[in-house]
Amino acid sequence: KFDKDYGQHILKNPGISDAIVEKAFLKPTDVVLEVGPGTGNITVRCLEKAKKVIAVELDPRMGAEVTKRVQGTPLAKKLEVILGDVIKMPELPPCDALISNTPYQISSPLIFKMLAMPNPPRVAVLMFQREFAKRLVAKPGDVLYSRLSVNVNFWATCKHIMKVGKQNFKPPPKVESDVVRIEPLTGSARPNIAFEEFDGLLRIAFNRKNKTLRASFSPKEVMSMCERNYKVYCSLNNIPIDESIVETAAADATTDSMDVDMDVDGDNDDDAAAAGEEWDGLDDEDEDMPVFFKELGAVDKDFKTPSRNPKSHVALIVKAKVNKVLTETDLADKRSRQCDQTDFLKLLLAFHEEGIHFS
Ligand code: SAM
Repeated sequence: KFDKDYGQHILKNPGISDAIVEKAFLKPTDVVLEVGPGTGNITVRCLEKAKKVIAVELDPRMGAEVTKRVQGTPLAKKLEVILGDVIKMPELPPCDALISNTPYQISSPLIFKMLAMPNPPRVAVLMFQREFAKRLVAKPGDVLYSRLSVNVNFWATCKHIMKVGKQNFKPPPKVESDVVRIEPLTGSARPNIAFEEFDGLLRIAFNRKNKTLRASFSPKEVMSMCERNYKVYCSLNNIPIDESIVETAAADATTDSMDVDMDVDGDNDDDAAAAGEEWDGLDDEDEDMPVFFKELGAVDKDFKTPSRNPKSHVALIVKAKVNKVLTETDLADKRSRQCDQTDFLKLLLAFHEEGIHFS
């Protein structure tokens, strides 16, 4: 009996299991990490080709199945089964190849976990639900373009390998699947920046991917995070910080007016883009705000009274630095969904120049 909560859709077509393993071009010296071996259809094929297979399986019944399948054969000593949730492992075990008919619930965290490895595998051959696979290969401007798309194509190359119909599984899933091959950049080809930094910037940018980068950086939480990280940077580099408080009203008008770009209703407007609506260049809050306060710049949350705005010097410095970077890179008015990986890299390096970090 298969458990849908564990994403258990067993491959019943041996041709597909063969093709998945073939596309990894395994060498006899390879250590393979298989996520979710299930009853072992893919596992045995990997064991035949590689030096060792580490199989991580959440369901103990399945762990027992795959162990039993090779028991008493020469393959048994090449198999290590780890029972548990692969996503909860602090790090993925070092491996040359990652192979999985991926349980759909962990598609995204599994990819992120692999890309974040300082020494990622040479190759990953992974089966995903079609919609998810499309996100991996989405290009700037596509509706499915996301933080995931940018990361995968920045840290790796990704190719669509084959389509797999739902009738090839038992029980059949609701949607079709795709197999992709991801080749992470390794050694000197891997960008020499921290994964968490690049991804940290993307998290901010794609929090509202249809807004301008200026708007993405305006929320108070984003600025507080930049400020916290800047203080750490300063203390590590012996740069004095002025934390004294300044009352800002009109003086801080230009920067504070950014805050009103915030998406107060919490909808990130992705729906509008998905529906193909065009942007009028104004964010909703801009349109609603009374002109008087717009001119004044500083506004409180419900736009009724101008706020007195106590801020520390360091907060103002960070705001100014963020503005400077966005302006000098010419990216302030570009929307994240239109930015390519070169834009994001340029942005990150410019932020680092100013001591602004995201992790
Ligand atoms: N590899 C087998 C095949 O292709 O026939 C089974 C694939 S099935 C789609 C996914 C497998 O992943 C199931 O055996 C399930 O129990 C296991 N699984 C689900 N979530 C997991 C997790 N978080 N960590 C490890 N294994 C998981």
